Amino acid sequence: MNNLNDAKLIIRILNREGFDAFIVGGAVRDHLLKMPLNDIDITTSAKPEEVLKFFKGVPTGVKYGTVTIVFRENKYEVTTFRSESGYSDFRRPEVVNFETDVKEDVLRRDFTINGLLMDSNGDIIDHVGGIKDLENKVIKTIGLPAERFNEDALRMLRAFYFQSKLGFEIEADTLLSININRHLIKEVAAERVLDEMNKMLKGKHLLKAFDSILKTQVDEFLPGLSKGIKYLNETKQDPKPIIFYSLAFSLNKIIPSYWKFSNNYRYKLKQIVELVNNNRMFNNEDLYHYGLETVLQANEVRTVLKQKIQSYKTLEKMYSDLEIKSSLDLKFRGRDILQITNRKAGAWVNNLINEIVNKVINKELENDYEILKDFVVKNFERF
Ligand code: ATP
Ligand code: MG
Repeated sequence: MNNLNDAKLIIRILNREGFDAFIVGGAVRDHLLKMPLNDIDITTSAKPEEVLKFFKGVPTGVKYGTVTIVFRENKYEVTTFRSESGYSDFRRPEVVNFETDVKEDVLRRDFTINGLLMDSNGDIIDHVGGIKDLENKVIKTIGLPAERFNEDALRMLRAFYFQSKLGFEIEADTLLSININRHLIKEVAAERVLDEMNKMLKGKHLLKAFDSILKTQVDEFLPGLSKGIKYLNETKQDPKPIIFYSLAFSLNKIIPSYWKFSNNYRYKLKQIVELVNNNRMFNNEDLYHYGLETVLQANEVRTVLKQKIQSYKTLEKMYSDLEIKSSLDLKFRGRDILQITNRKAGAWVNNLINEIVNKVINKELENDYEILKDFVVKNFERF
């Protein structure tokens, strides 16, 4: 299904009802670049309640004039032409005005390449010099960069994201202004910074973005990432996101609480960082305690760091050869220990089991009921 054609149809329907409407932003840009389209945004003179008269959908940002409509099973964000003012917090506009002229709507957008419009015939309308910048592969703010970054400091990181995605250069004044205004990144919600980082890390031209981050010294405001970005920039490597974060935080030694990772993701990073920094080859205990996937990721970080590593095959074999993968695999278990010792349950049981586990995975004890029982009888008093 061609989404762009459906979007043009949506526009035609709005036009027929007497409203102006255009496809805008990323979809127009990526279409002209012959890249796959993400989401398709439509901008219109129709107000949200008017849009909802003609299409099935839900208001997703009434204050900002956005409704998400479903049309032939696809979603489109339809937003009323608007202008913004009064960004006192460097983040969100205090005042949003609905406009009747699409030009006002285009002028609030961040970069010239994101300010192009497409009408129902597929013709491009350019009020901001976006076509020229697309041809020259340039990322440039609409209007004065200092003003635009003071309105919304996240735009500085968006510039790096688009550079990573598209491989374009950031125009000189825009780049200089990022350098000058970089401290404003502190004002942006950490969640949004992380979102933009994550988008950037998936780009094909990540190294270009790293280069710009270092030139503008924005890494000063990306807690704990600076050493990693510098290292990768020097060695010209662009690992996938989890390896990037693990590497950066391994070099940094700690994972700053600034980054709002999910609990699971943070735990994973913590484990990889611990492994990378344990300063020895991975052994059976590591494989047992951290699991194969995490050890392989730590090994990948060491590869990027050009440290001594073990082969994927070796680690996989070590893992599959483990006598037990969990304490549940032990032939002599906690309840057996309690039964035979006639003692009360407590932390001591776990301590004893841990010792047994380590002996079993290091092949100092065989995982056999009688052998483990014998070991318990001889050793439980130490616990
Ligand atoms: P992609 O979807 O490929 O990441 P995009 O250009 O569609 O890129 P979105 O974040 O989806 O980016 O935003 C859609 C459009 O909204 C942008 O093209 C831009 O015109 C405008 N926009 C988004 N965020 C901002 C912002 N912080 N400041 C100004 N305009 C913005
Ligand atoms: Mg988009």
